Amino acid sequence: VSIKLVRTIPSGSPALEDFVVEAVDTPSESSLEPNQVLIRSLYFSCDPYFRGRLSGTKDSYVSSFIPGNPLEGRGIGTVEASTSPKFIKGDMVTSAAFKWEKYFISSDGALTKIPSNTAGISPADYLGVLGMPSFTAYVGLVFLCKAQPGETILVSAASGAVGQMVVQLAKARGLRVIGAAGSDDKVDFVKSLGADVVFNYKTCGSLQETVKKAAPQGIDIYFDNVGGELLDVALSSMRFFGRIAACGMISQYNATPETAYHIKNLGNIVTKKVTIYGYIISDYFDKPVYKEFIDEVSSKFKKGDIQYRLDEVFGIENAPQALLDLFEGKNFGKRVVKVSDV
Ligand code: NDP
Repeated sequence: VSIKLVRTIPSGSPALEDFVVEAVDTPSESSLEPNQVLIRSLYFSCDPYFRGRLSGTKDSYVSSFIPGNPLEGRGIGTVEASTSPKFIKGDMVTSAAFKWEKYFISSDGALTKIPSNTAGISPADYLGVLGMPSFTAYVGLVFLCKAQPGETILVSAASGAVGQMVVQLAKARGLRVIGAAGSDDKVDFVKSLGADVVFNYKTCGSLQETVKKAAPQGIDIYFDNVGGELLDVALSSMRFFGRIAACGMISQYNATPETAYHIKNLGNIVTKKVTIYGYIISDYFDKPVYKEFIDEVSSKFKKGDIQYRLDEVFGIENAPQALLDLFEGKNFGKRVVKVSDV
């Protein structure tokens, strides 16, 4: 089975009809060329950056998906056959270029081996708590914004893959944490992670008033996962020398020129001397901060000092909907698609 893109979607909301779930032949072991690996997919990671890859634009940091080709992204799989000296049958592997197919052939250079039997760590954890979104939280909060004890942070999409880790890393560093989330269940979850104040941005009324009440003295760090109005409110609420981790702007990914939100409070960057850190996480995996992240988060997770909520959707045929859900807040935690059993 293969999940393919039907057409590019330059703007607006993608729909199920933009994808096709196609039966394809399973590649045979005999078709492997030297240094190739036949993989059976276990998990696909659904990530908001896919939206950019659906748009057909050429000038992005990551290439667009091509209509007629399978989607691809981060994933976990198991080696079924190998002509590579680096991998043997049964190895568990990950890569950022997993095809959205149940079986596919990959060159060995694209793959990293992961431990298959570490107590307390499931294969999907390598896409979540020890994976790209958590590392994104770490880089934005610790490495770029240099969070300090006693500071106040506002985190948007606080129950999500990145947000839930930001909340916990910030609490562990002695910050006062304010979270925003899109449902009451999500609000309760973010509170359970230790956040001091959490609000449902859909039902709280005035965002400006809500943030003001939660942080009367203003905010030192805004961890931005959503852009749009909440970014505007955060800009207007920054304290002197505030920092913004410009991680993502999901509220704008499906925007059209007519619906795009226009920020009004940019002037506060000057008057409050605010620094905005835009960043793309793929630039950081080969930096020392990656080891710092793995050391801190894996030891805390094993000890139970960090929680991480995965949101598993079962069945490769449900992968397109699982992806689309992200843009409507229908995921609750890190969204992955379970393709097959270990
Ligand atoms: P999440 O797990 O947080 O899922 C997306 C969430 O975004 C939804 O559950 C929903 O939460 C919220 N959301 C969706 N649509 C809207 C909207 N219109 N307005 C406000 N909120 C919305 O995703 P991730 O944690 O994986 O990603 C969070 C952000 O981080 C994204 O913007 C993503 O692009 C970015 N990112 C950036 C990286 C980088 O390298 N810079 C790397 C990884 C992620 P709710 O119900 O609470 O509204």
